Amino acid sequence: MHLPAEVEQRLNTPDRPALNRKPLFPESDCEHVILVILDGVSSSVFEQANTPFISALRKNGAYYRRCFTTFPTMTHSTHTSINTGSYPESHGSGLTIGDPCESLRRMNDNGRYITAALKQAGLTTSSVADQTLRGAFSYLSVEYFGHSINLCGQMARWSFATFRPAFLSVTFYATDNLQHSYGAGSEYALKALELVDREVEQLAETVREAGVLDKTTFFITSDHGQVDGSVTAKEAVRGFGTVGVDCIPNPGGRTVTLLNPTDKQLQQWIGSGLVKRTFTPTELRTMGHHVGPGTYVVCFKDVVMWEQTHNVSIHGGIAEVERHTPLVLSGAGVKPGVYKEIAEGIDLAPTATALLGGSYLKSYQGRILSEALQWEAPFSAVELLEFREAREEWLSQGSARGDTAEILLAMKQGAEEAYQAAVAAEYSRLYG
Ligand SMILES: [Zn+2]
Repeated sequence: MHLPAEVEQRLNTPDRPALNRKPLFPESDCEHVILVILDGVSSSVFEQANTPFISALRKNGAYYRRCFTTFPTMTHSTHTSINTGSYPESHGSGLTIGDPCESLRRMNDNGRYITAALKQAGLTTSSVADQTLRGAFSYLSVEYFGHSINLCGQMARWSFATFRPAFLSVTFYATDNLQHSYGAGSEYALKALELVDREVEQLAETVREAGVLDKTTFFITSDHGQVDGSVTAKEAVRGFGTVGVDCIPNPGGRTVTLLNPTDKQLQQWIGSGLVKRTFTPTELRTMGHHVGPGTYVVCFKDVVMWEQTHNVSIHGGIAEVERHTPLVLSGAGVKPGVYKEIAEGIDLAPTATALLGGSYLKSYQGRILSEALQWEAPFSAVELLEFREAREEWLSQGSARGDTAEILLAMKQGAEEAYQAAVAAEYSRLYG
């Protein structure tokens, strides 16, 4: 194939300097972030696997004992949260609760993605097997969805060697697929993780050959975990509402959206023995979903699914094992240690942007994981962390009194605004 000279030249000079790099920590020598998503791997499954290379990254890097993914724990939604650094209320991919056209408009707004943050600084982004990273060089094929660990690793290595992207996102889906088919934490998923580990090691070797290993940071995480489903709800809740009209099962079959339910209907759901939790409209907003009055979501107990499918293991709900994901940061700019602060998937885009020197997006709702970085942050995430602690406590307690949800929502909004203002002030101090 004959390429225009200008394109040829760009391909042959992958080390061209960024045009307008603005790292939030001016000493940052991080020039590449490699995000590896182990799809469907809960923190507990991650702990069981034999992954010597990733374990070494963890030992020499930062490990978060409490990292949570956004709700619903569905791949498209959680990946979009990771790639936009924001909750579903902002990016539009999540539960069936609002205007689908508006949701699509938001999901298609490339300006909300980390790719846009980096592009503004002349930095490139590449994505292997993740269709939710809008605006990246993207290598996606159905062949890679859930199948070849080896091909996924090959594509990642080729992409890094060829384009030397500032941000490379690689998703291994096989770990999710093998749990759907053979159960949460199945031996096949553990074997797949061993194979993924070898691919990550080879990818690091490619980075080393490119001469930039000391300027590269690895983020290893997941998008959600899985639970084994053994009880179906569809027949048991017949008559509680009209399916598809005011009772809408969400993708994954672990939650149902109720539109304007009567008190009697809510009592029927709660009394069914199938429901772990019912979110009121205000409670949904504390979980990062902007809904109007009258929209409720019921979340099933850990073994319950809407209907029998070909999957033995599923996800989408709020079980601890679905929400709690592994998180390792390792490499340039990282302060090694085991961290107890709550991290969320939405923190990765802001953290990568701060390290690499992209333009910090106003739509970011996560925080920079500054406690795990080498430099002292001149701004504080205390309020955001207080909100997260309070929300986790509330989630672990079962249902809340109405005023608890109001307090949590006020904490969330206040903390996000204060954090964004503090980060913006620091950028302004540094770069005017
Ligand atoms: Zn997934």
